[in-house]
Amino acid sequence: MPDTQPLDLQAILQEIHAKLEPRLGEGKVADYIPPLARIDPRKFGMAVVTIDGQTAMVGDALEPFSIQSISKVFTLTLALGKHGENIWKRVGREPSGSAFNSIVQLEQEGGKPRNPFINAGAITISDLILAGHTPREVIGEIVRFMRYLANDDEIVIDPAVARSEEATGFRNAALANFMRAFGRLDHPVEHVLGVYFHHCAIAMNCVQLARAGLFLANAGVAPLSGHTVVSRERAKRINALMLTCGHYDGSGDFAYHVGLPGKSGVGGGILVVAPGKASIAVWSPGLNQNGNSLLGSLALDMLAHRTGWSVFGA
Ligand code: GLN
Repeated sequence: MPDTQPLDLQAILQEIHAKLEPRLGEGKVADYIPPLARIDPRKFGMAVVTIDGQTAMVGDALEPFSIQSISKVFTLTLALGKHGENIWKRVGREPSGSAFNSIVQLEQEGGKPRNPFINAGAITISDLILAGHTPREVIGEIVRFMRYLANDDEIVIDPAVARSEEATGFRNAALANFMRAFGRLDHPVEHVLGVYFHHCAIAMNCVQLARAGLFLANAGVAPLSGHTVVSRERAKRINALMLTCGHYDGSGDFAYHVGLPGKSGVGGGILVVAPGKASIAVWSPGLNQNGNSLLGSLALDMLAHRTGWSVFGA
């Protein structure tokens, strides 16, 4: 659709919701984190916030959910702020082509994770942002960052999810210990995992999440406050990583269908950036085979089609 025609985003979201309504409940809710297994699989919410301040929303867009790996976009932003391009000595920038919690490449590649969005990479990012701080300070900093970006002091960590991840996160403990064995973590494994589990357990709704991601759609400047969060260059680079690695081994498929940078979480949320236009968040708990929201991905495919938003040309 040409830019000259104003888009009725609210009508588009309602249309998407109506089309997906008969399919609500499809996909498989993540059950390896017990509190996530209890979420109603028929939940569906979606919000679009444009860089000029319009908000459209539909369904359960105001109900908080566990943002899980979407938080990795924001911890990456903090790590880049603290250490700049030095972080790339510790973590790569290539798509993994493997599951989000895979350990295989770590052994082959000397304990250096492929990218900051797979679990091993995000655990390394937690280690990097711990430099000079206690886990408690860093967890507080991440929550304050989310509140500042979303302009909403209600955002909190869900303590039951954090505890549950701590109690059942054996694969993440394996990844962290494996990297530690390669001499690749600077802090005790329990501290690093404490930070990682807590940021994954942040609860937000679609509107809060879309607002928080808006700086990435607006060249690093949070358009609602006018604050520069990151440079234009850095926003572009974070978007590039979201596009190439944000959906794990489903990243190519997401780029093919949606054509916009996005980051998923096993809670069923996806954050998407339409540069120069808007930030979008969708939530539907049922996942596809790659651990990405099944109906959320479909909803974004429909939105991209209806709006014409794409990083690959009109
Ligand atoms: N906390 C989850 C885990 O570590 C995050 C995974 C995800 O959202 N893909 O397994």
